[in-house]
Amino acid sequence: MSISNSSDRRTFVKTVSASLAAGAAAGGFFTSSAKANDDKKLGFALVGLGGLSTNQIAPGLLNSKHCKLTAIVTDTPEKEKVWGDKYGITQDHIYNYDSFDKIANDDTVDVIYIVLPNGMHPEYVKRAAKAGKHVFCEKPMANTSKDCREMIDACQKANRNLGIGYRCQFEPHHQACRELAQQKTFGDLKFINAGFGFKIGDPTQWRLRRDLAGGGALMDVGIYALQACRFLTGEEPIEIVARETKTDLQKFAEVDETITWEMKFPSGVLANCVTTYNFNGVNQFRAFASNGEFGLNPAFSYKGNKGSSSKGPIEAIETDQFAVEMDAFAQTILTEQPNQVSGEEGLRDLLAIEAIYASIAQGKMVKPETV
Ligand code: NAD
Repeated sequence: MSISNSSDRRTFVKTVSASLAAGAAAGGFFTSSAKANDDKKLGFALVGLGGLSTNQIAPGLLNSKHCKLTAIVTDTPEKEKVWGDKYGITQDHIYNYDSFDKIANDDTVDVIYIVLPNGMHPEYVKRAAKAGKHVFCEKPMANTSKDCREMIDACQKANRNLGIGYRCQFEPHHQACRELAQQKTFGDLKFINAGFGFKIGDPTQWRLRRDLAGGGALMDVGIYALQACRFLTGEEPIEIVARETKTDLQKFAEVDETITWEMKFPSGVLANCVTTYNFNGVNQFRAFASNGEFGLNPAFSYKGNKGSSSKGPIEAIETDQFAVEMDAFAQTILTEQPNQVSGEEGLRDLLAIEAIYASIAQGKMVKPETV
């Protein structure tokens, strides 16, 4: 069927937009324009001023509605002046890793956002909670599910909110696809194919060190494919079978290079996923249902994600994913809205990831632990 300019296509695009608007109105998912407290902005401290903080999160804070950058934590003295000048942060709101705990007395800081290598997340999340601040933490939440549980406990004990940086859950194309899956627009979901990977450069970087990264491609970007499958189905995998290949034993001595894995969900949906640090071009998901199919390609980029379906394009308005995810987290504090990217959500991914590694090690199907 040709769908361009057909009334079918117009109807379909309208249906997706209408259901998204209805979902937002019902509070089914968050948007940056949601709800009350429009004037209130929460102060954020960024811990770790690397690539993501510099290029995405700090600009996202400027674009956000309910958040502002009020403090930084860095061990690189040159960054103090650059960031201080650029974002108007004075010396009394600049910390290093040793003086970090003094942030407890900084009234301009409501939320501490941890943007360090994965293996450092647990220590800094716990210290942030101990300082009495709400905590937002980049993905993957930690190297192990044990660490995730300790981080959740620490924030619960301190009575502080904990959120994980799953930006795609707030990305309108992903939300549109979730709606298509959940509303059964194409019938019951049957099969998902998802993958994310890239060819990694510098062999000395922390992403290739087990202690700092926890694993390789799977921990870093495979987690997006896993998230997409969990987000679309709204279910947790009950069986996982995985396989690994390593063609560069030196570069990937400590971490995984390329992994494929299959997940079975309680409804019977099967998902087949791939992740890699050794080739480019995999950045997509496709969901197959009884009466049609849909998906994104690219799926996990900061900008330019594109949706299509057997009935035509999936059109959604692009947002600043980081502004929207931080605004959503701010809303969990300001208006006590539910936190859809909670510590438990981060833990669920780690449990599935551990099952993937266990399946590779044992050469058999593994049932993931449950939260
Ligand atoms: P990066 O290497 O660019 O920055 C890491 C920062 O940590 C730097 O400021 C560095 O100085 C600091 N650091 C402190 N101790 C360190 C150590 N021992 N080794 C290396 N760096 C150390 O990394 P990044 O890309 O900004 O990633 C940071 C976190 O953000 C990671 O958890 C990563 O998975 C996550 N991330 C998320 C997204 C997303 O789209 N949500 C994208 C990229 C990275």
